[in-house]
Amino acid sequence: MKIDLFQKTSGPAKSLRAKLLGIFILFGLVLLGFLWIMQSVLFEKYYERSMEKKCRAGVATISSALIGEEELGYEDFCEILGSVSSENDLYVYVESGDGSLSLSSTEVSKPGRVIPEGKRIFVDAKNMLSSSYGNEIFFTIPGRQNEKMAIFAKLLDGGEKGMIYIYALAFLSPMGPAVDILRSQLIIVTFIVLAFGIVIAYLTSRHLAAPLTQMSENARKLGDGDFDVRFTGADYHEINELADTLNEAAAQLKMTDSLRKDLLANVSHDLRTPLTMIKSYAEMIRDLSGDDKKKREEHLGVIIEETDRLSDLVNEILVLSRVQSGAESFEEEDFDIQKAAEEIVQTYRIMESEGYVISFEPLAGELTVHGDESKIKQVMSNLISNAVKYSEERKEIRVFFEDKGDTVRFSVEDKGMGIPEEQLDMIWNRYQRASRQGARAKEGNGLGLSICSEILKRSDAKYGVESVYGEGSCFWFEMKKV
Ligand code: ADP
Repeated sequence: MKIDLFQKTSGPAKSLRAKLLGIFILFGLVLLGFLWIMQSVLFEKYYERSMEKKCRAGVATISSALIGEEELGYEDFCEILGSVSSENDLYVYVESGDGSLSLSSTEVSKPGRVIPEGKRIFVDAKNMLSSSYGNEIFFTIPGRQNEKMAIFAKLLDGGEKGMIYIYALAFLSPMGPAVDILRSQLIIVTFIVLAFGIVIAYLTSRHLAAPLTQMSENARKLGDGDFDVRFTGADYHEINELADTLNEAAAQLKMTDSLRKDLLANVSHDLRTPLTMIKSYAEMIRDLSGDDKKKREEHLGVIIEETDRLSDLVNEILVLSRVQSGAESFEEEDFDIQKAAEEIVQTYRIMESEGYVISFEPLAGELTVHGDESKIKQVMSNLISNAVKYSEERKEIRVFFEDKGDTVRFSVEDKGMGIPEEQLDMIWNRYQRASRQGARAKEGNGLGLSICSEILKRSDAKYGVESVYGEGSCFWFEMKKV
């Protein structure tokens, strides 16, 4: 039966494809809407604006000819007036306030466009100018045949020449037909853009969604326990990153799964051995040694020893899983690492009665580090206990410190059986015990060093071992000095 542990992500989410399609269409519509407004509403305004600019530029040229530094003769002035008019397709007219000057572009050059209204058309402009506060004015008036006329007028102070009026008139062709053509073109463009948008959105979303769909299929396989599944990326950085993360997760899951299987196998094996011993010795007491006090005590001794082993094993498994899962809280504080080590060494002094020589070699002064003192003590105790356990005949153990500048190194050295080089890396793993040909198997469950390694990792401490097989080992860890 498959148990549904996780709730599905709530709410009906849109598919990537639909979303992309929507975005593309929206983008296309906004773009086209913008174009529509530009063409149908603002087109005429732009046209008027550009004509106003033309008029202004023409009037500015004439103004500077009139009041510029260079004194111009009548002929030159006529020439300028003519060229301003013909180059910009403007009708230009200049008149002085006292009536002494009155000259229009049709009088000086080949008349381009003649305005039937003649100069009379500027009377309104003149009146507007004199009644306004400014010295220039621009406006449009309807002309013939749907044409519009744009008029720009300027009042110029000509100094000795008195006040001078300059007028420029431009013809605005009717925009209606042009706008109509543009509109019909825009309708075609709208359809083409939308069709393209849909095709591009479809292709892009397919390209984007394909690796994701593949990934979710693989993730489902992973969920079903196929840890060998591989996630492949695509042409996108983000999707590649997701694939890498998922591959990492799959690798972790595979490792956890094999650890779980090992744990189950080892735990059941380790529990079964002492339990079998306890059962058989209890049976022996019941059936054979019940009345024989000496034998009974001996058998009870074995039972008690095995029970202790059992409870040690259970305790260590618990500690390790708690530290590994992060459930164990670390109460960190500053403490003197040498003092902590001395206290632990003291608890092993009892081994001296069995011929062990444990030398403790601290450095001068206090060495303060930051961490969970009781956990660090547990690491020290595990390392010393291993040194004792794997010492064999030469029972000399050294516990010493080295000042490494920013850090302090704690080491436990023994002259015991050592560890084969190829097994040095794995002894820190759960249930990993170095195998030794010919050597006596020592009691142990292979959890001590993995507990040390977890605690040291959580304490940000470096750690390691140097060992020569058959000559001895030196286990160490380094903590930052405070
Ligand atoms: P255990 O001692 O219970 O087997 P540990 O995790 O403490 O488990 O150690 C793992 C293995 O590392 C041991 O089984 C042993 O083979 C090796 N080892 C640890 N300390 C020493 C040492 N001081 N000398 C030689 N071998 C050691």
